[in-house]
Amino acid sequence: MTGDILTLNCGSSSVKFAVFDAGAPDAPAQITGKIAGIGRAPTFQARDANGQLHTPDPLNALTPTHTHEDLIPRLLEWLVQQRGAHPLRMVGHRVVHGGKTYTEPTRITPNVMANLDALCPLAPLHQPHNLAAIRAVAAWQPDIPQIACFDTAFHQTQDRIQTLFALPRALGDEGIVRYGFHGLSYAYIASILPQHLGTRAEGRVIVAHLGNGDSMCAMQSRKSKATTMGFTALDGLVMGRRSGTLDPGVILYLMQSKGMSAADVETLLYRKSGLLGVSGISNNMHDLELSHAPEAQEAIDLFVSRAARTLAGLIPAIGGLDAVVFTAGIGENSAPVRAAICSQLNWLGLHLDPDANARGDVKISAPNSAVDVLVLPTDEEAVIANACRAQLAI
Ligand code: AMP
Repeated sequence: MTGDILTLNCGSSSVKFAVFDAGAPDAPAQITGKIAGIGRAPTFQARDANGQLHTPDPLNALTPTHTHEDLIPRLLEWLVQQRGAHPLRMVGHRVVHGGKTYTEPTRITPNVMANLDALCPLAPLHQPHNLAAIRAVAAWQPDIPQIACFDTAFHQTQDRIQTLFALPRALGDEGIVRYGFHGLSYAYIASILPQHLGTRAEGRVIVAHLGNGDSMCAMQSRKSKATTMGFTALDGLVMGRRSGTLDPGVILYLMQSKGMSAADVETLLYRKSGLLGVSGISNNMHDLELSHAPEAQEAIDLFVSRAARTLAGLIPAIGGLDAVVFTAGIGENSAPVRAAICSQLNWLGLHLDPDANARGDVKISAPNSAVDVLVLPTDEEAVIANACRAQLAI
């Protein structure tokens, strides 16, 4: 199969993209890049397979009024120019929520779009942008096949008990259950675990995806057994702007005693909480690490404490712990956060090698550690590209 696969991963203010050769399984991307700061001060950057940077004028003359729908056709035109003789065969999208219905990569049809639209309230920060990208590609060239790859899909292997809320049965039956997210990232890490852990990869592993969004997944035999995000991507760990786990009584109090509307609470919990809310300074871990303000340190301490408690709380679902993997922006880059989380887990026999951690080696646990600790960069785009290759081969 000759030609290209394009992957699109749209967040609320960004579009991450990558172009892969459809006929070369597991080959790295030919072009990768990101449009960031959409709605504020958009910037565009791309790198080719040689690591050379591209910042083409038409894609940098962007203004805050440009939306995802304006930017994606420009990006597509630029990519087609770059790739010349390589026709675009398929576009694969990260779609955050597949609900109960979509547990595999799925070809986009009008019916599928209608069902995915209905899930937007469950992922208001992400799903509308994921779907906007699909619509933008369809408007640009309706004949290009598109598939959706779901962040919820990886968690289908969990036992029912791990997915239930303690709510009346009827609500669970209608789909108010824990779905879990970051599934493309977990699928990628699961796929490369044997390279790094050998047979231990089939054991009991907790992957900590720590970025702007944060979650953990407890795996056994490289399958999801429990995860920290739930019905929505709001649950679990402290995130950049999201609260994570909260006593539900706080929401009742905010609405009943402080007169906040549902929309006010949504904005508070999705956009004004987490590291940003607690520090009052930034949603960005790196900024907080550089700050000397006590509020910044407190936000980091809360992030770390919740991460350690949550990691320990996942262990019963897999009956022990053989390895921990750190991934995503914070997990891959912040040695102090990794060290602080691990120092609260020493009682498990988990010990870091401080020098390996500072260097960001792949293996950062000490030789005598009962638990292996790894740092592995995630690659959601590679998972989407492989799903596209599988569809093209059908
Ligand atoms: P992601 O969503 O995976 O892109 O991760 C974004 C998060 O990673 C932000 O909180 C960044 O501040 C954080 N991050 C990226 N690089 C570093 C670094 N060198 N040190 C600490 N945090 C970092």
